[in-house]
Amino acid sequence: MNDLKQEDFEVKKLGKATLVSPIYKNYAEEEISNELFIDESRKIVYDASLSSYKNTLESGAEPISFLKAGPRKDIYFDPSKTKAAIVTCGGLCPGINNVIRGLVNGLYYRYKVRNIWGIQYGYQGLIPEYGHEMKKLTPEVVKDIHLFGGTILGSSRGRQDISAMVDALERENINILFTIGGDGTLSGNHVINEEIERRGLKIVTAGIPKTIDNDVNFMTKTFGFDTAFTTAAAVVRDAHNEATGAYNGVAIVKLMGRDSGFIAANAALAMPDVNFVLVPENEFDLHGEKGFLAALKERVLDRHHALVVVAEGAGQNLFDHEDVKKDKSGNIKHKDIGVHLKDEINKFFKSEDIEATVKYIDPSYIIRSEVAIPADSVFCNDLALNAVHGAMAGLTDFVVGRWHNQFTYLPIPAATASRKKIDVNGPLWWAVLETTGQPLKMKDE
Ligand code: ATP
Ligand code: MG
Repeated sequence: MNDLKQEDFEVKKLGKATLVSPIYKNYAEEEISNELFIDESRKIVYDASLSSYKNTLESGAEPISFLKAGPRKDIYFDPSKTKAAIVTCGGLCPGINNVIRGLVNGLYYRYKVRNIWGIQYGYQGLIPEYGHEMKKLTPEVVKDIHLFGGTILGSSRGRQDISAMVDALERENINILFTIGGDGTLSGNHVINEEIERRGLKIVTAGIPKTIDNDVNFMTKTFGFDTAFTTAAAVVRDAHNEATGAYNGVAIVKLMGRDSGFIAANAALAMPDVNFVLVPENEFDLHGEKGFLAALKERVLDRHHALVVVAEGAGQNLFDHEDVKKDKSGNIKHKDIGVHLKDEINKFFKSEDIEATVKYIDPSYIIRSEVAIPADSVFCNDLALNAVHGAMAGLTDFVVGRWHNQFTYLPIPAATASRKKIDVNGPLWWAVLETTGQPLKMKDE
């Protein structure tokens, strides 16, 4: 990561923040520390290693750093005249409702914004032809929503006309648009922002990255991830019982992870009974001396059961790629590696004349709609509150992230430019190899 440029991390601003924040007024009266308020000079360094620090000192350059999130003393929007809207797009992820609740309560109680609306069914809700009415949001409306998974606003996929969406924002006099979604939603947010800028509108857009796979760059963690792998770990535990319950029992659990196998890796570390973790970052062969099936056979003959965790994007090299299918948003639809593994393992053991019982479990949709665990609830609330602070201060085209245990603001293009993946030479993957005992490589070079 030596080609990073500081300018790529500078967050855009709609204008100068000239109004005193109601939070600051409140705190000033209570004589609470000024330290709570963040000014633009507060940055979080990207690389916290001493060697990097020395290198930058020697070169005389400023180290790459991210803007620190948090309340500002001065804000851009007058709360009494501000109208905010929230939209949720893409697939479900634990914690979306917690984020919505955090946004509404943050706006309402901290800044006294009273005009808050939910846009229904993703970006469709900004297109009048769909007929999805906007939903008025108050603390009363959202008070119990964290007790449920999913999103109270509904979601959708599929591209919508950018100009028509900005027309809706203009027509509705919306000043702040909060988008909760994945790479697609955030790219949409960025393009909406470009159109807003072109028209010279006084509207800011702020994103809260939603990806159950934890694959956003420059963020240690995204919301829902802890819940996802905690829930996944419980399924893996039960699958282990299935595997040990039969002579030569093999249980396969397919987990989320389109391009990055963080859920599979972490679930396996949490439940160290797992013998094989298959992730997109680590290509493998099925057949051949060094292939997965040979390693599985060895394990099954030795211990008479085996537990396999596979991420949905793993092993895509095993499929013929001629008939690539895409979903409504243009994401490549992965071939079902879980079902494929089950069939291939069954065929293989039959051909080897080994009696084996193969059980296949796919808990993906259950995990996606799970209620956030307490750690995630706290995290969702903090992300939401920081999104509110940034937006009220007039920052725009940004997402809230977390880095070195601090909340940060990043420009959307920086966060969406590439995905975070498991480094197969790094400590996480090594921990997986050591816990599972699986071969370093299951591929003939
Ligand atoms: P998930 O993690 O579930 O994939 P996502 O936010 O990436 O979440 P998508 O369905 O890919 O989900 O995108 C959400 C919405 O954003 C869709 O309505 C999609 O059409 C829209 N979108 C994606 N990319 C763009 C873009 N470049 N311009 C405009 N809209 C976009
Ligand atoms: Mg996506």
